[in-house]
Amino acid sequence: MPPSTCVTPHRSTRIVATIGPACRSPELLDALIEAGVDVCRVNCSHGDPSSIRADVDRIRGAAARAGRRVGVLLDLQGPKIRTGPARQPISLAAGERLDLVMDAEFQAVPGRVGTTWPTLVHDLTPGARVLFADGALEAVVEEVHPAASPPFAALRMVYGGSLGAHKGINLPDLALSAPCLTSKDLVDLAAGVEAGVDYVALSFVRRSEDIDQLRDELERLGRPDMPVCAKIEKPQALEGLPAILERVEAVMVARGDLGVEIEIEQVPMVQKRIIAAANRAGVMVITATQMLESMIHAPRPTRAEATDVANAILDGTDAVMLSGETAAGRWPLLAVQAMDRLARAAEASIYLPRPPLADLPSVPGVGTTVARAACFAVREQPRPLVVFTWSGFSAIVASKSRPSCRLFALTPIEATADKLTLAWGVTPLVVPEVRGGTSLMIAAGEQALLKAGLLQPGEEVVILAGRTHTRGSTNMMTVERLGV
Ligand code: PEP
Repeated sequence: MPPSTCVTPHRSTRIVATIGPACRSPELLDALIEAGVDVCRVNCSHGDPSSIRADVDRIRGAAARAGRRVGVLLDLQGPKIRTGPARQPISLAAGERLDLVMDAEFQAVPGRVGTTWPTLVHDLTPGARVLFADGALEAVVEEVHPAASPPFAALRMVYGGSLGAHKGINLPDLALSAPCLTSKDLVDLAAGVEAGVDYVALSFVRRSEDIDQLRDELERLGRPDMPVCAKIEKPQALEGLPAILERVEAVMVARGDLGVEIEIEQVPMVQKRIIAAANRAGVMVITATQMLESMIHAPRPTRAEATDVANAILDGTDAVMLSGETAAGRWPLLAVQAMDRLARAAEASIYLPRPPLADLPSVPGVGTTVARAACFAVREQPRPLVVFTWSGFSAIVASKSRPSCRLFALTPIEATADKLTLAWGVTPLVVPEVRGGTSLMIAAGEQALLKAGLLQPGEEVVILAGRTHTRGSTNMMTVERLGV
C-alpha cells in the first residue's frame, strides 16, 4: 500500500473557544466541538467557583457526547483593574477632570468613578497615562490624594467618551505593585483544579517568579504537574520572556491588554517575537483576542480579520483563540467554522514556515538528535509520525517542525494527552503502559492506532520512541509498516 496521503483533511492549528452565555447550551456546545474546537477556555473574569464548576461539567459532557478529547483552560483573572459600579455610563469630554475614587463600591457619578483596586493610589504618579475600556478613553494623572477620605486621583481626560461599570483600566507607564495571584484567583484556582481543568492560564505575568508562585499553589492543591500558560500582556513580561518560557508549557499572546500596555504599532512584531521564542523553547503558543471580533455581530469576518488569523498561523502559532465571538457573540458557530476554514487554508499554503531542524527545541541528551532525525525523515519521505511520549515534550518538538503528515502522540498518561490538545497537529492517544521492551511497546501502540481507525494496515510510519517512559529517554527512530 502506498504511504498515506499528505493532503490530509484534518486541521493542525488548534482552536481555543471561550465559553460564555452565547454558547452554554448543550446544543451549541456540541455544535462548537463538532465544528472543531480543541480547547475550551473558562474565563474567570466573568465567573466564580460555581460557574467554573458548571462550565467544566458542561464541556466534559459535550466532549464525551462527541467522543472527542477537548482540553479545558482555566484563565485566571489576575490583578485586572476595573472601574467600579455605575447605574449608567458617565460621559466624559476631552479636557474634563475625572476623579478616580479608591473605593470598589463607589457608584459612578458625573466626573467621579470608583476602582476595584483601591491601593492604586500608591502606584499612580502625576503625568502617568490611565487608559479605560481597552484604551477607548485616555486620561493623565494630575494629582494624587492618598490622605483624602476616600483617597482619589485627579485625572485629566485626553480622549473622552462614555465610561461604564467594570471597564478595564490599564496603566502602561507604571510598574504596579499588585500581587500576581489575587484572593479571587486563589479561590477560582482551587475550584478549577477540583473540577479537573487541564491548563491554568495566569494573567498579567510580569516575571518568572509569578509562575513559581502559581506552581507553589498548584503543589499545595495536589497538582504540581498542571500545565501552565503565561499570558504575555505586560512590557515586563516581554523583558523576562526567556525565563518565563523556561517555566511554562504554553504562552498566550494576549493582545487585548498587550495592545494597550505597549504601543499598538509594536503588537504585530511582538506577536512574531513571542511566537518565535516559544517555538524555539518547545512551548505551545496561543494567539488571542479580536481575531474575528466583528463576528460578535456579523456572520462573516472582515478581510482584515481573515488576514490576521492566517498571519498568526504563518507566524507559527499553535493555536488561535476566540473570545467574545463564542462567549457573547451572535454567531459563535459561524465564528468557529470561519476559524477552521481560515486555518486549513493557511496550513495548505506555501507560506507556512517549516523551521530549520537546527532551530527545534532540545530534548534532553541524545533525544535531540533522534527527534530531529525523525522530523527530517518525515520531511524527506512524508509519512505519519508516531511519537511515544511520557511528558509530551518529544511530541511538541515534532509538532514544532510542522510536519506535513499526521502526527500521533501515544502516551499512557491522560494528563499528557490532555496537555497535547493545544499542540499544533498532534493527535494524542492514550495507550496502556507496556513494560518488557521497546518492541512490545511499539507493537501495542501500532495496534492501538489501527484499532482507533487512525491509521490503516499496511501504512508506513516513522516512529520516535524511548527505552523507558521517562522524559529524556527518547533514543530511537525507526520506520515500520503497520500490521505486517
Ligand atoms: C487579552 O488581554 O488578550 C486576554 C486574552 O485576556 P482577557 O480576555 O482576560 O482580558
